[in-house]
Amino acid sequence: MKSIAMPDMTPSTPPMIDPFGRAVTYLRVSVTDRCDFRCTYCMAEHMTFLPKKDLLTLEELDRLCTTFVEKGVRKIRLTGGEPLVRKNIMELIRSLGRHIETGALDELTLTTNASQLARFADDLYGAGVRRINVSLDTLDPDKFRAITRWGDFGKVMDGLQAAREAGLKIKINAVALKDFNEDEIPSMLEWAHGQGMDMTLIETMPMGEIEEDRTDRYLPLSQVRADLSKRYTLTDIPYKTGGPARYVEIAETGGRLGLITPLTHNFCESCNRVRLTCTGQLYMCLGQNDDADLRAPLRASEGNELLSNAIDEAIGRKPKGHDFIIERGRSRPAVGRHMSVTGG
Ligand code: SAM
Ligand code: SF4
Repeated sequence: MKSIAMPDMTPSTPPMIDPFGRAVTYLRVSVTDRCDFRCTYCMAEHMTFLPKKDLLTLEELDRLCTTFVEKGVRKIRLTGGEPLVRKNIMELIRSLGRHIETGALDELTLTTNASQLARFADDLYGAGVRRINVSLDTLDPDKFRAITRWGDFGKVMDGLQAAREAGLKIKINAVALKDFNEDEIPSMLEWAHGQGMDMTLIETMPMGEIEEDRTDRYLPLSQVRADLSKRYTLTDIPYKTGGPARYVEIAETGGRLGLITPLTHNFCESCNRVRLTCTGQLYMCLGQNDDADLRAPLRASEGNELLSNAIDEAIGRKPKGHDFIIERGRSRPAVGRHMSVTGG
């Protein structure tokens, strides 16, 4: 990848403000819609992926991210699909790391299934990444195989070990799934906290067609919390990581548990983020279909004026919130695209 210009920052770059007064300071970038797993709640077994020719190049992704940094974004999370399966992804990560060095960006991070982490952990740390989210829904190798369809549990454990040794702080993200991992939540929590990792639980969201009925797997976190309260002492804490999780501290383990409840609790009022796909579509809300094409203005000229205007116009359309609902008998998901397109 060629070296790219430094952002044109003034010390007081004001953040972008949406029509509801929320500052947009967090950009999530799905660098690929492809993945080496096929988690049953996320993807169908046989997925049609985007043609490679439609993807933005790594240079284009860098230019787009840098424009967002110039416009006041302070945190970038790379996601997917599986971000670490995109060819030469470290070139992009290293390049974006320059914004951490200059102080233009507070955090560069990623969400990964950890399958490739053993290979990349040291390089990630070297590029300025300090914290990562690892998605892991079970500690039982057979159940792991069943939920990911293609995943290798041993590789994930090796990846976690390598990340810890590299000095990366890890948060485990688990989707709470009825009749799959609800009985395992306490043991996962104790395992994560025992190794100095925070953990966050996520409710399943109705995105994209999958083989099963989501109502069969939907487990409200209000119920998980009530169950955990019978075993542990949970205290609400104001801890924030810039994401939508609300945190509790568990006295018995001394660790933190985050709860992401898009369905039981509307988390939109403090939404500070937008999502970019690997083809340059900007989604202003995870739970809405409206998007803005940034690829055309990106490619229309070498300067960033058209792109910057297109971003402003898109932020001006950021909606108040999502309309997720999971109902028995509702055959279509609330949002047709899979989570792997926008990366969650
Ligand atoms: N492949 C990476 C991983 O799994 O960490 C990054 C992309 S993945 C789409 C991001 C997160 O979205 C994962 O934690 C995954 O469990 C979650 N996810 C995927 N589909 C979901 C759904 N329908 N509802 C809730 N979470 C979902
Ligand atoms: Fe891949 Fe992540 Fe989706 Fe699982 S959740 S299929 S690892 S993108």
